[in-house]
Amino acid sequence: MSPDEYTPHSGDRRYRVEHYDLTIDYRLSTNRLDGVAVVRGRALEATRSISLDLVGLRATKVQAVRDPQGAKGGRIGFTQTDRKLKVALGRELAVGEPFELTISYGGAPRPRRTRWGTLGWEELEDGALVASQPTGAPTWFPCNDLPRDKATYRLSIRTDPGYVVAAAEPVSTVTKGGRTTWVFERTAPTASYLATVQIGKYVSRGMDLAGVEGQVLHPAGLAARVTADLAPLPQMMAVFAEAFGPYPLPSYRLVVTADDLEIPLEAQGMGVFGANHIDGQGSLERLIAHELAHQWFGNSVGVARWRDIWLNEGFACYAEWIWSERSGRHSAHAKALGHWIALAAEPQDLVLSDPGPELMFDDRVYKRGALTLHALRLTVGDDVFFRILRAWTERHAGGTATTADFRTLAASVAGRRLEAFFDAWLDAPALPPLPEGADDAGAVEPAPVTQALNVVPRGGTEAR
Ligand SMILES: [Zn+2]
Repeated sequence: MSPDEYTPHSGDRRYRVEHYDLTIDYRLSTNRLDGVAVVRGRALEATRSISLDLVGLRATKVQAVRDPQGAKGGRIGFTQTDRKLKVALGRELAVGEPFELTISYGGAPRPRRTRWGTLGWEELEDGALVASQPTGAPTWFPCNDLPRDKATYRLSIRTDPGYVVAAAEPVSTVTKGGRTTWVFERTAPTASYLATVQIGKYVSRGMDLAGVEGQVLHPAGLAARVTADLAPLPQMMAVFAEAFGPYPLPSYRLVVTADDLEIPLEAQGMGVFGANHIDGQGSLERLIAHELAHQWFGNSVGVARWRDIWLNEGFACYAEWIWSERSGRHSAHAKALGHWIALAAEPQDLVLSDPGPELMFDDRVYKRGALTLHALRLTVGDDVFFRILRAWTERHAGGTATTADFRTLAASVAGRRLEAFFDAWLDAPALPPLPEGADDAGAVEPAPVTQALNVVPRGGTEAR
């Protein structure tokens, strides 16, 4: 059995990673990446070898530290296939034993083609970005590419002068010998798919996001559009912190690329948007809310396995509706009624708790996930519902969780059995009716149903 049934070629169950220290030199003109990855981990099973995911880049040397105090060991043997770097440790690691590998690697990074589109390191017109969900991380560093394997990071990115790099919490920037080195740290446990590097000719400015440090990076020419569209961000942060619990990271960065992008995407502590998503009219404000909400749902509380993706996308989609409600537009209830009608007209062949890898990012996962949360809110009432959300983000902060964990926690906070409710919403393909509602939940109002809809092409998604 593979470690994650939705990504059967990714990851190795025999170990987990605790820390990645990545030193990367990237030349924009030639798209050449040279890296040294120090991977510190621990054996979960007794093993004489481990494999890392690495795609499109070649390892040139692997060294191992023999023990935690030991000096850097000599070269050790490895073999590489088109997606795996298999390292022979030369001795058996016991369960729980730490290891440290230093891997030199390089090549011309490019996105990998997957059933979910092209993922990973990607050249822009004048820069580069990383967009990995779910399996793009191995296109730029060797990793144990499983959502449940969260680690801390130090990133040192050296690139051409004149470019701005964003990756995690900035530590230092030094220009020497005509190259600029940007060093970052990520102390919050981070899944490999949420590690990121953004390189562009950006201007950057700070933003106070309701007490959270914010930073916006964008091409100078987009300043007016960015200023207009990000105006609601501080209030959005305040609304979400109140609804979901404190913002889980030290800062939030928002990157707007000069290029148009297919969809906006979340990374740890960051939302990444294309120029086409920021039109200065606030047209895609809900997607700004969506990506921000992922910092709680997906990034802090991660999925242990991809089949639970609704815990990311359903929650982020419901956050859009909460933002709509709290910012004085359509109530979440109006949104829910509209989307219930639209979903009822779609094929009833998707099981939310196990949509299958092909439909993992199907729009129905997003909308039915959000509807499930709204139905829960109607069932238990506003007060209990938001206590469930805050208990969820607190209980699993920095960790990973499953759908079963959410069911258990919701029933525990609500103090009532919810098996039949969750069975119908999560495990059965047919769309259940929306509950009548508790007295204090989602006050029913005339629903401007069609206006509350966000229409997405069949099978597609509008955000990750
Ligand atoms: Zn999303």
